[in-house]
Amino acid sequence: MKKRILILGGGFGGVYTAVFLEKLMTKAEREATEIAIVSRDNYMVFQPLLPEVISGSVQLNHVISPIRRLARTARLYTREVEAIDIAAHTVKLSPGAKPVPLVISYDHLVIAMGTRLDYNKIPGMREHAFPFKYLSDALSLRNQLVLALEEAELENDPELRRALLTFVVAGGGFSGVECVAEMNDFLREAVHSYHQISEKDLRLILVQFDDRILPELTEGLSIFAHQLLVKRGVEIQIGRRLMAVSADTAIVEDLKTKQIETIRTRTTVATVPAAAHPILSTIPLPKDRGRIKVDEGLEVPEAPGVWALGDCALVKQVDGKFSPATAQHALRQAKTCAQNILASLRGTRKHVFAFTGLGKMGSLGRRSAVAEICGVRLKGLLAWLLWRGVYVTKFPGLDGQLRLIVDLILDIFLPRDITQFRLFPEEDVHREHFEAGERVFKEGDVGDKVYFIAKGEAIVLRGDQPLAVLNQGEMFGEAALACNHPRNATVIARTSLELVVVNRVAFHELIGCLPGLRYNIETSMNQRIGAVLIWTGKFGSQWPGSERDHAQPAVR
Ligand SMILES: Cc1cc2nc3c(=O)[nH]c(=O)nc-3n(C[C@H](O)[C@H](O)[C@H](O)COP(=O)(O)OP(=O)(O)OC[C@H]3O[C@@H](n4cnc5c(N)ncnc54)[C@H](O)[C@@H]3O)c2cc1C
Repeated sequence: MKKRILILGGGFGGVYTAVFLEKLMTKAEREATEIAIVSRDNYMVFQPLLPEVISGSVQLNHVISPIRRLARTARLYTREVEAIDIAAHTVKLSPGAKPVPLVISYDHLVIAMGTRLDYNKIPGMREHAFPFKYLSDALSLRNQLVLALEEAELENDPELRRALLTFVVAGGGFSGVECVAEMNDFLREAVHSYHQISEKDLRLILVQFDDRILPELTEGLSIFAHQLLVKRGVEIQIGRRLMAVSADTAIVEDLKTKQIETIRTRTTVATVPAAAHPILSTIPLPKDRGRIKVDEGLEVPEAPGVWALGDCALVKQVDGKFSPATAQHALRQAKTCAQNILASLRGTRKHVFAFTGLGKMGSLGRRSAVAEICGVRLKGLLAWLLWRGVYVTKFPGLDGQLRLIVDLILDIFLPRDITQFRLFPEEDVHREHFEAGERVFKEGDVGDKVYFIAKGEAIVLRGDQPLAVLNQGEMFGEAALACNHPRNATVIARTSLELVVVNRVAFHELIGCLPGLRYNIETSMNQRIGAVLIWTGKFGSQWPGSERDHAQPAVR
């Protein structure tokens, strides 16, 4: 029976381990071994180029590479890893077309599942901030920029218009700086196609926790980057942290003075530090802050045959430092990992991971970058040319490199694309977060959603008159939907408030097919009519597709 090397993760670490294994195996070894990769997607994302997708200077599908073309002989399972059983040497994958999970056994296991964004540290981040890690994040952020411009163009309320044209990016590391630089370039060029918006209406804010941006670089380069971004119109707030996000605001705290600023914005991007992959917390392997501890050959000493690399592993380098979470390290680790799996199968000596990094580069948008390569510091156009050259040559596959070159050349001559893709319809059920004092909706607004309180308290007002306080488990906003009337009360968060929100279509679908739910909602609304006189007596006559029959529920 063939031995199986099972690789979890289709990023730099996982895919390149398979690529190096294919390269290094003899014909006999290839026949005796199966390489299998499990990845959520059937492509690998070249993350260093993700910021370019925001501005459209590189096409979305030109920053990805199909895994099947990179690791040609490997068997690809496009599935989600659900559980890893180290003792049984098996991995459970999510069900596919057939609704049963798939369990695969392995002889060698390579864990390269990267990290996840940590949503838990900042209230409202999951609900309202735009993350910036995956391919879909770059696209949805780009769409949001265009949407904000479209809305601002038509908006008469000056406060809302200002919020639409204010963009906050939290995190002044490489991802945050590259992201804000691309957003800035894109927006400042795009506004010329709008009649009511000018460049001076735009406000882009970069919020950085440290006392300088790009702290990974020497101070001179970080000052250069700071000054260049400021000159190009980005406001940089140093020594501040993003405290909370809501639909309308980014709340920022000054770390020294403890002063809190509420920035009105509809677009907050969080490039906050990533957290360990949650599946890893379930496996009994030694870890440090969630990263799997491995030896200098990338094997887990306590579990021979289990290997870990990339962002999810804690790899000690020969210089005594731990490898940073970068693609260049994941790629080199992949080679060492492949060599050592083969050494283990062949019974030969293992290699030591000897790479300590070539340098760091960061793009600042519009033909400028900063770079520190092998001790040489570069900035401006030269650094930018080097940055582009390196990533084009590092991009996997000649076809991918050619596509990239064409995009980068066209970007010099053509205006930025400002079309908006409507690929992500608003979810029928989603979560929203409000900080104390923020308004959920106001009297007279269109009733488009129903709200269920998951956590916190809300206060209901008519005019200035408080009518009721609503708590966890209670619902509000249903009357306007049921009666097809504007909101007849205002609801404000009394404390930090987490809501589960159901949109109009989903609400009517539920009501239409669940008479029990409809009955309960009617009863609760009738009680409120008696108790606080919020809701109008017209309720009930306009339930979708129904007579006002107050039918008893079939299901309660
Ligand atoms: C915006 C951005 C810009 C960056 N720029 C640079 C740069 O310029 N230079 C640089 O060196 N590094 C850069 N990095 C960092 C670099 O991309 C990462 O260090 C590198 O991708 C790590 O590789 P990895 O294989 O460990 O993880 P990843 O590349 O994150 O791959 C993890 C893989 O595991 C898969 N996966 C996770 N969970 C599951 C599951 N349960 N089931 C199935 N599949 C799963 C994911 O889908 C993914 O394919 C950047 C990162 C970002 C986000």
